[in-house]
Amino acid sequence: MSTITNHMPTEELQALDAAHHMHPFTANGELAQKGARVITRADGVTLTDSEGNQILDAMAGLWCVNIGYGRDELADVAARQMRELPYYNTFFQTTHRPAIELAQKIAQLAPGDLNNVFFAGSGSEANDTNIRMVRHYWALKGKPSKSIIISRKNAYHGSSVGSGSLGGMSAMHEQGGLPIPDVHHINQPNWWAEGGDMSPEDFGIARAQELEQAILELGEDRVAAFIAEPVQGAGGVIVAPDSYWPEVQKICDKYEILLIADEVICGFGRTGEWFGSQKLDIRPDIMTIAKGLSSGYAPIGGSVVSDEVASVIAQSEFNHGYTYSGHPVAAAVALENLRILEEENILGHVRDVAAPYLKEKWESLVAHPLVGEAKIVGMMGSIALTPHKESRAAFAAETGTVGYICRERCFANNLVMRHVGDRMIISPPLILKPEEIDMLMDRALTSLDECYAQIKADGLL
Ligand code: PMP
Repeated sequence: MSTITNHMPTEELQALDAAHHMHPFTANGELAQKGARVITRADGVTLTDSEGNQILDAMAGLWCVNIGYGRDELADVAARQMRELPYYNTFFQTTHRPAIELAQKIAQLAPGDLNNVFFAGSGSEANDTNIRMVRHYWALKGKPSKSIIISRKNAYHGSSVGSGSLGGMSAMHEQGGLPIPDVHHINQPNWWAEGGDMSPEDFGIARAQELEQAILELGEDRVAAFIAEPVQGAGGVIVAPDSYWPEVQKICDKYEILLIADEVICGFGRTGEWFGSQKLDIRPDIMTIAKGLSSGYAPIGGSVVSDEVASVIAQSEFNHGYTYSGHPVAAAVALENLRILEEENILGHVRDVAAPYLKEKWESLVAHPLVGEAKIVGMMGSIALTPHKESRAAFAAETGTVGYICRERCFANNLVMRHVGDRMIISPPLILKPEEIDMLMDRALTSLDECYAQIKADGLL
């Protein structure tokens, strides 16, 4: 057994990592050959690796480090809470101050009558809670046949069996026997890839109306809920046409099916509002939260539930819960994160400074020969790479080949920008300053140029 020290050479760390550490969403054999980049420290929006490189993190980790890295206040709060009460459960008629205070704070920030919080350890767990909660809700209302949850293809709602089933990622469904029964997927509002000759507005209406068609085909008495991300994140930062959400809301209201807004990415300032639902005028019955709730400093998620749904669930015992539901240290860290977001007016910074400047720069990327469309809402953006802008063509090579090359160029240029297929996506910390936006754009453009040159040389264009 080797002792890992701060001075251990990168190759040795990589070899030990390859020998024992199974990475999520990774072809581990391939990574073992190449060696994982070892991240050692982070501050603000910048990561440092074991070779001393400074990397601009335009993904805020996994869309989560909203307040940026290196905030000592959160470390201090965690240490204090660990000393005072490191753990206690909330199952058996007990509670504790961090859980009470955090639930109250979330209820205050959440729109409408979303005043009730069921805590989980992650977004996946929270969506598993949602599956059971909406089915149980309808059963308690005397309609147990309402168990189908409608979701969307190319949605991401987590990686557990339940939440992975809600998600519409075919590559995930191919492994491990997903989806579970009574989950139905309709098409996504991705105009760039699937809009054909329709205008974005007509296409948005058509895709929303697929929800109504599905309800009618499956039977109103069978459908419990519709779940969707306000802006699809992991699917490629797909921003629906403006016509989409008002139509979806109308359909949910008409058929009285519960609307679950998965705010795991969109929540806590990413769109410039506390929640994406506020930005897009959606009235959910339940919101899924995680990530930005603690800015990723501690694992915590939850379901924020309307008074109506919560009052029905409260009628009897809900046989559901996690050891770490409302974990006191995670809850205390989340509270401190929310205090910083609020007191430092970070949403104001997004709305007035960072998002407008980033939007101007980001949208200018369409001038690049590889970029077909540039989409951005608040601090989450995407560009579609294409060999032919006018026809919105896909590359002849397997989807993702060019996106991967572009991502590799970004990483080599010390920029974390992800690819989803042949879309490049960003979701930087909300504290990003204008000069950091300039740096991000410089590195992105250099990487796009290098990618362009490489695919031309490789005959992929
Ligand atoms: N929902 C959405 C919209 C997400 O983006 C994610 C994570 N990327 C999840 C749920 C799952 O969250 P977690 O990884 O914390 O389980």
